[in-house]
Amino acid sequence: MSIEDETGAARVTVKYVVTRQPAFSSEIAQIPDADRKGLTMARTPGTGPQRIVVLGAGYAGVLAALRLAGKAGDRARVTLVDPRGVLVERIRLHQLAAGQDIAPVPLAHLLRDRPIHFALDRAAALDLDRGRVMLGAPGAEPLPFDWLVNATGSTFAAGVPGVEEHAHRLTGPDAALRLRAALEDVPEGATVTVCGGGLTGIELATELAAPHRRVRMLTGGPLGPGLSEQGRAHVAGVLARGGEVVEHAPVARIERGWIELADGSVLPSDVTVWAGGFTGANPLAREAGLAVDASGRMLVDASLRSRSHPNVFGAGDAALAPGLNGGVKLRMACATALPMAAHASDNVLAALDGREAKPMRHRYYVQCISLGRGDGLVQRVDALDAPLPKVHTGRPAARFKELICRSTLWSLALERRMPGALTYPKGPHAPYPSEEPTARSRKVPIA
Ligand SMILES: Cc1cc2nc3c(=O)[nH]c(=O)nc-3n(C[C@H](O)[C@H](O)[C@H](O)COP(=O)(O)OP(=O)(O)OC[C@H]3O[C@@H](n4cnc5c(N)ncnc54)[C@H](O)[C@@H]3O)c2cc1C
Repeated sequence: MSIEDETGAARVTVKYVVTRQPAFSSEIAQIPDADRKGLTMARTPGTGPQRIVVLGAGYAGVLAALRLAGKAGDRARVTLVDPRGVLVERIRLHQLAAGQDIAPVPLAHLLRDRPIHFALDRAAALDLDRGRVMLGAPGAEPLPFDWLVNATGSTFAAGVPGVEEHAHRLTGPDAALRLRAALEDVPEGATVTVCGGGLTGIELATELAAPHRRVRMLTGGPLGPGLSEQGRAHVAGVLARGGEVVEHAPVARIERGWIELADGSVLPSDVTVWAGGFTGANPLAREAGLAVDASGRMLVDASLRSRSHPNVFGAGDAALAPGLNGGVKLRMACATALPMAAHASDNVLAALDGREAKPMRHRYYVQCISLGRGDGLVQRVDALDAPLPKVHTGRPAARFKELICRSTLWSLALERRMPGALTYPKGPHAPYPSEEPTARSRKVPIA
C-alpha cells in the first residue's frame, strides 16, 4: 500500500507495513531502516499550499488529518506523523491483555483515497521558531510546517517507586501483550493486583477477572470517584465476584511479588498492574517550549490553540483546555478526543482563510464502562460530566458500551467519506473563567 504526493514537486511514496495478522503483534512497529528513510516529506520552500502537520495517529490525529485533508482542498497539504502503521484502539487494550484477539486497524485503510501524506516515524523534537518537526529515524529530513496539530495522546503516570520495574502499564499493544503473557504464566489461584480505582482500573480489573485467578483492586481514595453512588455500588458488586476491592489504600511501593501500602502493610501480588492515572508525559511539547501544565500536557485556549504558539493547535489527551466548560477539566476519553480534533481542525481551516477561531462548546451525556464482556455501566452525567443518579447496568449496558467502542471507528470512516460530518453535542455558552480572549487567527506566510 502506498500513498503518493500528487503535486509532483515533492513526490514521495509512503510505505506502510500492512498487517494481516488477526491480532496485534509486537512486530507491527518494526519498520526496516531502509523503508524509514524515504518517509519524510520535503516541500520546495516558497511555493505551494500551506503545510499542515498532524502529530499522532490516534483517534484525534486520524480524525484531524481526515477533516483537514478532506476540507482544505488545494489550500493545504496535510501530513500525518506516527511511528505505527496502525491505529491503536487504546480503549480495547484491556481486552487484548485479557487474551482477546483485537484486530489492528491499518492506517492505510482508514486514510485510503485521501490526500494525506503519512510519515511513518516518531516526532522526536519540534523547532517552533523555524516551523519544523524533527523525526526520529536517523538521517530523516525535518518536516516543515505552517500549522501544527499536536495529538500525541497520553500515557500512564509512573506514580510510586517500583512501577517502572515491577508493574505492568497498558501503554500500548506491546505492553498489553506482555501483561497477557505474564497472566498466562501464573499458577492457579494467583493474585493479580490492579492499582488504581478510576475508569481504566475498573475496566481492567473486571476484564482480567477469571475463575483461576483473584483480582484485587487497590484504590488510593474511593472506588470510581467520578461515579454516582448507584454506579459505584454496581461496580463494587461486580469486582467482589472476581476478587476484592480495598479502598483508601494508597500504594507506597511496588516490588517483585509484593506491594507496600502507605500504612506500612504488605500485600502479596503475583502480577501487578498500574492504572494510577494518565499524564501528558510525552516530553515533546514541554521540550519544544510550548506552554504546558505540570504534567507536560500542552495548554490550549478555548479555540484549542496553543497558549504560547498561535500556529499550533492541540487535540485529544495531549491538550488541556483549562477554561473550557466553565473551567471543568475535560475527561481524557474518545468522547473528548474526537470532538476536540474536529474543532481544532475547523479552526485550522478558519485560520487558512484568515477567519477568527471559534471557542469550543462541548457537553457530556454519559460515561460508558465495560465490566468484563457480559456486564457494563452506563452512568448518566450532566453537561459538565458530574454523575447523575441514573445508571444502566448489566448486559444491555455492555452491549451499549461495545457500540460506543465501535462508533469511534465508524466516526473515522464517516469523516473519510464525508469530511466535516462528525458533529458532537454542544454545551451551553459557558463563561471561560480562566481564559484570555481567543487570539485572532492570522495567516502564516509560507517561508
Ligand atoms: C485500557 C484503556 C481503556 C480505555 N477505555 C476508554 C473508554 O472506554 N472510553 C474512552 O473514551 N476512553 C478510554 N480510554 C482513554 C482513551 O483511550 C484516550 O482518551 C484516547 O485514546 C485519546 O485519544 P488521542 O487520539 O488523544 O490519543 P491516542 O489514542 O493515545 O493516540 C496518540 C497517538 O500519538 C502517537 N504518538 C505519540 N507520541 C508520538 C510522537 N512523538 N510522534 C508521533 N506520534 C506520536 C501514538 O503512537 C498514538 O498513535 C482508555 C484508555 C486505556 C489505556
